[in-house]
Amino acid sequence: MASILTRPSARFITGAALVGSAGALIYATRRPYVLDAAQNAPSKTLSFPKNMPFSRQITVTEVEQINHDTKRITFALPGGSNEVSGVAPGGALLTQHSPPGRFFPVFRPYTPVHDLDERGILQLVVKKYPNGLASGHLHSLQPGDELTVRGPIPSYNWKPSPSPRHLLLVAGGAGITPMFSLVQGILNNPQDKTSVQLIWGVNGTRDIVLKNELENLEERFRDRLRVTYVVSGPEAAPDAPSMGDPEKYKKGYIDKAVLQKVIDSVGDKEHWGDTQGTKVFFCGPPAMQEAVAGKNGVLINDLGIAKKAVHVF
Ligand SMILES: Cc1cc2nc3c(=O)[nH]c(=O)nc-3n(C[C@H](O)[C@H](O)[C@H](O)COP(=O)(O)OP(=O)(O)OC[C@H]3O[C@@H](n4cnc5c(N)ncnc54)[C@H](O)[C@@H]3O)c2cc1C
Repeated sequence: MASILTRPSARFITGAALVGSAGALIYATRRPYVLDAAQNAPSKTLSFPKNMPFSRQITVTEVEQINHDTKRITFALPGGSNEVSGVAPGGALLTQHSPPGRFFPVFRPYTPVHDLDERGILQLVVKKYPNGLASGHLHSLQPGDELTVRGPIPSYNWKPSPSPRHLLLVAGGAGITPMFSLVQGILNNPQDKTSVQLIWGVNGTRDIVLKNELENLEERFRDRLRVTYVVSGPEAAPDAPSMGDPEKYKKGYIDKAVLQKVIDSVGDKEHWGDTQGTKVFFCGPPAMQEAVAGKNGVLINDLGIAKKAVHVF
C-alpha cells in the first residue's frame, strides 16, 4: 500500500489541496447547488470533485480491535439514514487531520469496506503503522469523535458485466481493502455476472482480517468467489501444524506456481477479464508489487499476461 502512495495516488493527493482551494472558489461562484434529482434516491456524503474542496465530517459510532494491529471503525454519515458514502467499489476517500505542531494537514486514502449500498454508515478497516500519522490518529478515535473526509478519489471505473466473466485479484497484507470492496461490489450487484478468484498473501493467519465477511461471501456465492490464502511467516515452516485445507491455506509466497494453479482452475479462459480487458487486479506492498505485478514480475514476465491487462491499485 505504501507503493500506492508513492505512485499516481501520491501525486494526486499532493495536488489535491491546491486544486481544492482553486476548485472551491470556482465551484462556489459558478455552480448552483444541486439537490438530488430523484427524491427517494439516497444522497451521497462524498462526490467528486465537489468534496475535494468541501470536506465532510463523519462521526465515529463504534470501534473494534479486530487483530493485533488493525481496527474496524464505523462512522455515521452526516446526511443520516438516507445517505450513502458515494464511494464506488474499489474506491477510496481521503482522511484529513492536523497533528499538533504540524503546519500542513495530513491526507491519506482509505477504502471503505461496508456494503456500499448500505445507508447511513461508513466503515474503515485501518492497520496501525509504528509512528503512522494517519493510522495513529484513526486508532485514537472514540465513539462520538468526528473525522474530516474528502473525495472520493478517482479510481478504477469498475463496469459490471451482464455476461459471465472471470477475474483474478491478488492482494498483499493490508492491500486487501480495495480488493474486498471490489469483490463485495461485484457480488452484491445482481446485474454483475463476474466471478472472482482472490489470492491474498499474508505474514500469518492473524493478519487475515475480514475473514468472516469473505467466508460469508464464499458461502453465498459458491460458484463465483474462491479465496486462497498464502501464508509466509512461521506458520509456513514445513513442520508447522496445518492451517486447514492446504488448497485454501498455502504456505510460502505468491509465486508462479500458486498463480498458475489458480489461473488453470479458471476453465473458461476466453472470458477471462472484465469489460475493459483487465484480467488481474493487484494491491500490495512495494516488494510484492515488483515481484508479482511489475514489468519483470511473474504475471507479465512468466505467465505472459499483457501489462495493460494488469491493474495495480
Ligand atoms: C488507494 C489506497 C487505499 C488505502 N486503503 C487503506 C485501508 O483501507 N486501510 C489501511 O489501513 N490503509 C489503507 N491505505 C494505506 C493508507 O493510506 C496509509 O498509507 C497508511 O495507513 C499509513 O499511513 P500513516 O500516515 O499512518 O503512516 P505514515 O506516517 O505515512 O508512515 C509511518 C511509518 O509507516 C511506514 N508505512 C506507511 N505505510 C506503509 C505501508 N503501506 N507498508 C509498510 N510500511 C508503511 C512508513 O514507511 C513510516 O515508517 C490505502 C492506501 C491507498 C493508496
